[in-house]
Amino acid sequence: MTAFEEMGVLPEIAKAVEEMDWMLPTDVQAEAIPLILGGGDVLMAAETGSGKTGAFCLPILQTVWETLKDIESGKGMGTGKSVQTSPHWSLSLFDRGRALAVTPDGLRCQSREQKEWHGCRANKGVQGEGKYYYEATVTDEGLCRVGWSTSQANLDLGTDKFGWGFGGTGKKSNARQFDDYGEAFGMHDVIGCLLDLTNGQIKFTKNGVDLGVAFTLNAQQKSQTFYPAVVLKNAEMSFNFGAQSFKYEPPKGYVALASVSKDHIRHNPINSSHDSASSGKSMSNAPQAIVIEPSRELAEQTYNQIQKFKAHLKDPKIRELLVVGGVNVKDQISALNSGVDIVVGTPGRLEDLIHGGYLSLTHCRFFVLDEADGLLKQGYGELIEKLHRQIPKITSDGKRLQMIVCSATLHAFEVKKMAERLMHFPTWVDLKGEDAVPETVHHVVVMVDPQSDKSWQNLKHHIQTDGVHYRDNVKPGNNTAETLSEAVKILKGEYCVRAIREHKMDRALIFCRTKLDCDNLERYLKSLNSGEFTCVCLHGDRKPQERKANLEKFKNQEVKFLICTDVAARGLDISGLPFMINMTLPDEKSNYVHRIGRVGRAERMGLAISLVSTVPEKVWYHGEWCSSRGRNCKNTNLTDQGGCCIWYNELRYLAEIEEHLNVTIQQVGPDIKVPVNEFDGKVVYGEKRLNTGSNYENHVSQMAPIVSELADLESKAQLMYLKRHITVR
Ligand code: AMP
Repeated sequence: MTAFEEMGVLPEIAKAVEEMDWMLPTDVQAEAIPLILGGGDVLMAAETGSGKTGAFCLPILQTVWETLKDIESGKGMGTGKSVQTSPHWSLSLFDRGRALAVTPDGLRCQSREQKEWHGCRANKGVQGEGKYYYEATVTDEGLCRVGWSTSQANLDLGTDKFGWGFGGTGKKSNARQFDDYGEAFGMHDVIGCLLDLTNGQIKFTKNGVDLGVAFTLNAQQKSQTFYPAVVLKNAEMSFNFGAQSFKYEPPKGYVALASVSKDHIRHNPINSSHDSASSGKSMSNAPQAIVIEPSRELAEQTYNQIQKFKAHLKDPKIRELLVVGGVNVKDQISALNSGVDIVVGTPGRLEDLIHGGYLSLTHCRFFVLDEADGLLKQGYGELIEKLHRQIPKITSDGKRLQMIVCSATLHAFEVKKMAERLMHFPTWVDLKGEDAVPETVHHVVVMVDPQSDKSWQNLKHHIQTDGVHYRDNVKPGNNTAETLSEAVKILKGEYCVRAIREHKMDRALIFCRTKLDCDNLERYLKSLNSGEFTCVCLHGDRKPQERKANLEKFKNQEVKFLICTDVAARGLDISGLPFMINMTLPDEKSNYVHRIGRVGRAERMGLAISLVSTVPEKVWYHGEWCSSRGRNCKNTNLTDQGGCCIWYNELRYLAEIEEHLNVTIQQVGPDIKVPVNEFDGKVVYGEKRLNTGSNYENHVSQMAPIVSELADLESKAQLMYLKRHITVR
């Protein structure tokens, strides 16, 4: 049995994982997988490199597959074939508002949405002459309205001319006209809903008492199909269509819906279309899991991992779909129509498809936010809340919605706030506490001091700088802040090349502060020696196709260096990366950990080198105020004078990072030689570390004595109980 199987992972999935060379779960996987399999909400402090993708994808894949299997074998009531062939009258699992949950038997519904109304229709309706009856009982306080509607009506019963409802406040309504009728009703009251298609009348009873005719129907209306309908606001109701005996006998002449002859029954078209599309599979365009990622690249990586994990999962096959911008939406729509179980995507495209009705949230049972801090920073907080509101909190097969959130920092205020609002008693998997550097990363800083290293003064060929000093009188010897700032930019180009050569880097990620810096560095490296410094760029100004192709080139090792900005690199998964270079420290301390987490992932050592200027450097800083958003902007005034530049103080950022991490980062000289004695001189960056492993194995052996002590205590307790029991007798 593999370590993954021991944690409850299916053998088929464990086999795929083994084939990927994962022998032991990472720490975050060891904690999170059992929690997710157990049905809980999980909030993971996990950056890329921790194995977080596997931590949520493995248990989700497993649960989704097991659910599909249940459906296939007929156990999974409420989805697929079982509904289609269901002879019973029930509430529709498909023709319902997004926040309305329906129990698997289709006889009880609930909405916990406090602001909006959410409604539902039954799976069948009646047509033609006859008098029909069903009962609805209020099973929890809240606002509710029941009655009848045609298929043209919206789900908010009584607010258009195709719906006739009776509400708890004692009002009847049709076409948004609310009039006093009968009396108010509430908890435990049983409302009889009566439809007389012979005489064209709708009326209601409350606890068996006839409240009189509520609506009369004209000839045209009478010819329609009428469906039982309900709408709720933070309330719950149960239904009896006549399969069980009624609490109050229907008035004379009225028959229970369950006893209506076939000739008068019409199937709800929404139900039927879903049923036929699903043909025994799960709901077609309503996936069980939705994973939201902050970038296309990250979405692709997660999607690719899912494909690998499911390699041995057959019968039924899981259908996953990648939903990202920049690719043809038609293909995504047609894939959705032919059926999906797991959707991985970026927020914009997901929203478009949901909004357009192509992707339904009715069967979502896993709502995953990967890199939630990134999603929130990009302004997707509201969208996340909106989607969460639309997902039923109880699935059609009676399971609670599970929410899984990963974030590099759980301590970010926005992440905590969101978790509090949306998650259901989440378990925190936070093995690190505050940000910490992974054990597999060796990180050092190199001071770039243009006052002691004057080599920049007589360089014939150097990196093109960002041009912020084009109007300044920068020249060697004048020692102005501007000259030193320009000098730093030139020196950093040199130090970058030196770092590459010193460590014989053949694969590295290089971070620059701006897109312009990326472009300049790319050009410089290419100008040196194309074979030695092959590189590509990844940033927001490059077209999606180019970004994708560039990432592929780097992943396939066709080029050695990937130059990127923070935004573009968020969540990139390039496994076993040996090196990274920070051309500039990020001004946000948590981004430092994020960046250096790209190397030395999962048991592979990596080296991260940060170039830190000892003098202030003037840099571009374009905000909303910059009309061109930086493109060809020449306004080198400082931001407080309406310009687009700031003085960047890296020494201050370094101090902040060190304080945040509570470490002093090792400094190396301008030769960028890194002492290796710390690692016994044996380390080869990018190789697997020896004699280390995840703490999972340790964890099991550490727990063993406690488990056996617990077992002893339990048997003692049982003995005591038995003795006591015998004495009393
Ligand atoms: P992630 O943090 O999900 O981006 O994963 C980082 C890298 O670690 C990926 O390349 C994974 O393939 C790899 N990885 C994840 N879990 C394991 C594991 N248990 N054993 C070995 N490699 C792993």
